[in-house]
Amino acid sequence: MSLPGRTDYIDIHTHYGTKASAGTFSVISLMAHEEIFPESTPGIAFTFGIHPWFLTPTNHDRQLKDLKRIARNSAVIAIGEAGFDKIKGPDNDLQRRTFEEQVAVAEAMNKPLVIHCVRAWDELLKAHKRLKPSRHWLVHGFRGNKDLAGQLVSKNMFLSFWFDFVNRPEATPLIRSLPVERIFLETDGSGVDIKDIYKKVSEDLEMEIEELKGITYRNFKVFFSLESY
Ligand SMILES: [Zn+2]
Repeated sequence: MSLPGRTDYIDIHTHYGTKASAGTFSVISLMAHEEIFPESTPGIAFTFGIHPWFLTPTNHDRQLKDLKRIARNSAVIAIGEAGFDKIKGPDNDLQRRTFEEQVAVAEAMNKPLVIHCVRAWDELLKAHKRLKPSRHWLVHGFRGNKDLAGQLVSKNMFLSFWFDFVNRPEATPLIRSLPVERIFLETDGSGVDIKDIYKKVSEDLEMEIEELKGITYRNFKVFFSLESY
């Protein structure tokens, strides 16, 4: 598994990653329905999973089969994005079943899970309680309120923030209220520069960018169970 350098910007969730510049460690999110695999894509670290938006009763079996095969690849450092979406995607039962299958793959491979969750927080919290995962879970692109963030963090989940959220006025108190040990930053599919997100959040946390880089570097190691607190 490739590791970021201590002074790297870590973009924990990005698509295609081609915009990544020197000094940035990008974790590229590949979605099973795209049929793009780590062997044929530039990048050194990937996640691979079945995104709820692109899940259907007819493509489920093929996506799961690909996931089980690709999950073994050492460049695939986490499973996901997996999750629940109440706005877009198939019915609840299929979403829940597919999420559980992905958790099982993550557990079997000893890899953490990256989560996409839209208006289905109860579902996610219930799944966490029911499945009792031994690997860490990261909610990517978090856009909820402070109470919810606190609740997820109290279940030991990590949260990652993207460009749109960190520029909202409510983001500053929310990020300040969280333990820094649980924070990641990401560009997702935005094309925004990860450096700008680090700059904004380091201002919110009243610290130097280098210090924030040190924090996300340590968080990376904990999230991937290379180190514990
Ligand atoms: Zn994404």
